[in-house]
Amino acid sequence: MNGSPKSYPRPGESGCPVTFKSQYENFIGGKWVPPVKGQYFDNVSPVNGKVFCKSARSTAEDIELALDAAHAAKDKFGATTFEQRAKLLNQMADAIEQNLEKLALAEVWDNGKPIREALAADIPLAADHLRYFASAVRTQEGFIAEHKENTVAYHFHEPLGVVGAIIPWNFPILMAIWKLSPALAGGNCIIIKPAEQTPASIMVLMEVWANIVPPGVINVVTGYGPETGKPLACSPRIAKIAFTGETTTGQLIMQYASQNIIPVTLELGGKSPNIFFADIANENDEFFEKAVEGCVMFVLNQGEVCTCPSRALVHESIYDKFIEKVVQRLGKIKQGDPLNMETMVGAQVSTEQMDKILHYVELGKKEGAQCIVGGSGKKAIGGELEGGYYIEPTIFKGDNKMRIFQEEIFGPVLSVTTFRTEEEAIQIANDTSYGLGAGLWTRDIMKAYRVSRAIKAGRVWVNCYHEYPSHAAFGGYKKSGFGRECHKLTLEHYQQLKNIIISYSPQPTGLF
Ligand code: NAD
Repeated sequence: MNGSPKSYPRPGESGCPVTFKSQYENFIGGKWVPPVKGQYFDNVSPVNGKVFCKSARSTAEDIELALDAAHAAKDKFGATTFEQRAKLLNQMADAIEQNLEKLALAEVWDNGKPIREALAADIPLAADHLRYFASAVRTQEGFIAEHKENTVAYHFHEPLGVVGAIIPWNFPILMAIWKLSPALAGGNCIIIKPAEQTPASIMVLMEVWANIVPPGVINVVTGYGPETGKPLACSPRIAKIAFTGETTTGQLIMQYASQNIIPVTLELGGKSPNIFFADIANENDEFFEKAVEGCVMFVLNQGEVCTCPSRALVHESIYDKFIEKVVQRLGKIKQGDPLNMETMVGAQVSTEQMDKILHYVELGKKEGAQCIVGGSGKKAIGGELEGGYYIEPTIFKGDNKMRIFQEEIFGPVLSVTTFRTEEEAIQIANDTSYGLGAGLWTRDIMKAYRVSRAIKAGRVWVNCYHEYPSHAAFGGYKKSGFGRECHKLTLEHYQQLKNIIISYSPQPTGLF
């Protein structure tokens, strides 16, 4: 990036744009509030495996405090005009852009992702999301349906009130913003429970917003899932819960929400197929290179992406030359220090996640998959990064029935198989319990339409991958969840539709 240093200083070093507090309290009612039970947990940076701060280990009592603050704010905030809310969201976006490096550094240190990605994607996308919903809410109109002569049905969008959001660790700031943007645009107050692996960057964001967001409108309570997330999702004082995380946790969230009959949206796991048809083969042209790059995208964000293209389906006639190019391209990818601008693959989020991925690498070998590249597991980076969580990107060739093809690994591990016909490609692509993302690569426009319609997934990329515009609906089929984020229709997940039927005739109906 023009003007960016080659490598950013670490937190604590002079010139680093972010300074973490040694201890973060909860952000409730516009103030920093210590956890009621006085407990904190350590935050470890995946970059070097060292503790860099502590966060509140909150319990049901802290969730109640946040609910008190949100309920105290909800009537006033719910009565704001669309223009006022749009102005607020745009101010929040401005503040993100003014603090781009600070927030990107915070995200890198908390999560382990490379700084070039946080600067170019995570944080700018977060600002754009706020701006999109600032505009989208102003396009929303109530509507009128004629009922019969002298009687009219009006429809109004009303805020739900106070909503809850439970966030994962792979894109902490962006995932929080995917939820709070439509929530605030719709006139709601929100309580956010970040993932315990990455609680700090969201708190840095709250520092940035502390003087912009009215007290009680956004409240952030950190802690572990069962201790902090569960009381939030079980509370009779929230009107909706939005969740992003694992499919098994999503099942629990549905059970909790059922106690209070509140709406749930779930963005869950994935095992996305990426299909490479024979007509892409023309080694000397740009499009073939683009498809090779599209395959290598399984290492983006260290593979910790719900839509990671973790299954490559390659036409058998092009398999050898395509995979040879993919391996060559993978070899050029720079892995290592996340604060270096040339690094493309950083550290996995936690030691538990690293162990999970290493387990799958061993499982692939035991299942009899052919290891094409990688497979050695933990990658020694050396120096001060020695304690960090780095894994060598790995490609296996095998069969779609293997567990490495069926289970979400959430790491830089690609499972490749071949197909002979279009029908077989569709069958393999859909042979999964998930249905979040999919990719396909072809020069044939009719095939592109046919196959993208036949794939059971909420998002299909054709001749591209990992594009996330704020205005394109995102969400899952099957066990990848339900409900959508990003498009303006998401507003409806955060609103009640009020219908009023009005008669303007003085005449009795004559029915009774
Ligand atoms: P996770 O389910 O373990 O945790 C997600 C959040 O849920 C965390 O904040 C956690 O503390 C909380 N939680 C855990 N147990 C809970 C409980 N019993 N009650 C309430 N809250 C609880 O998931 P993760 O490991 O943080 O994230 C990785 C998963 O997220 C992957 O499966 C990935 O595919 C998925 N993901 C999906 C999307 C999407 O948009 N579909 C996006 C990002 C991540």
